[in-house]
Amino acid sequence: MLFDTHVHLNDTQYDQDLEGVISNAKEAGISNMVVVGFDRPTINKAMELVEKYDFLYASIGWHPVDAIDMTEQDLLWIEELTAHPKVVALGEMGLDYHWDKSPKEIQKEVFRKQIKLAKKVKLPIIIHNREATQDIVDILKEEDAKEVGGIMHCFSGSTEIAKECIDMNFYISLGGPVTFKNAKKPKEVALEIPLSHLLIETDCPYLAPHPYRGKRNEPAFVKLVAQQIAEIKGVSLEEVADQTTKNAKRLFGIN
Ligand SMILES: [Zn+2]
Repeated sequence: MLFDTHVHLNDTQYDQDLEGVISNAKEAGISNMVVVGFDRPTINKAMELVEKYDFLYASIGWHPVDAIDMTEQDLLWIEELTAHPKVVALGEMGLDYHWDKSPKEIQKEVFRKQIKLAKKVKLPIIIHNREATQDIVDILKEEDAKEVGGIMHCFSGSTEIAKECIDMNFYISLGGPVTFKNAKKPKEVALEIPLSHLLIETDCPYLAPHPYRGKRNEPAFVKLVAQQIAEIKGVSLEEVADQTTKNAKRLFGIN
């Protein structure tokens, strides 16, 4: 069984055929998925989905690109929702220096507030990082995020940074890019980082793996990510599936 730790089935791109996408995932052997909500509409939709499907769980938080929009009330609302038994993590949160909608200082402040909340409610965190690795590592250290740990989502950094994150109690999650021909770093990470610290994800509808690159992604394709890791490590698909599923269940506290 495979565990897709990062899906956006709450995206409007699935409005027309969500049932079909979910049955594709079931057929491909996906046992569980975490639906990530990162603003008001996507958090609401994530909560709806986890009520409807027993194999779905939610992670809720505030995306760094929209940090400037988050109010104190939003943060309180997120805190209230964490009482729901199917909310298994906070995020995605972090820093995104690619887009300049939210100034860096506001992004950092919103990131720190969410880490503090995660420690208060004792949930792991899911980190979104775009062109902000050093600042993220610094803030995780300063806020002592090690206490809750979590996931470096769609990790694209070096093996050295991956090890630094593992030391802070984080799992390294690989997605579609590990299947891309020129993705040197994710392939290196897949080789060097032991399975005990790896997770798999699609980040669907984004980042579809080869040979679907550029198309709409879906959870069934997480099998291609697992296959690629198995190939790189020279182990069976089953071993990658079993170990990453075990890791995800342990982190999210799912039996
Ligand atoms: Zn995402």
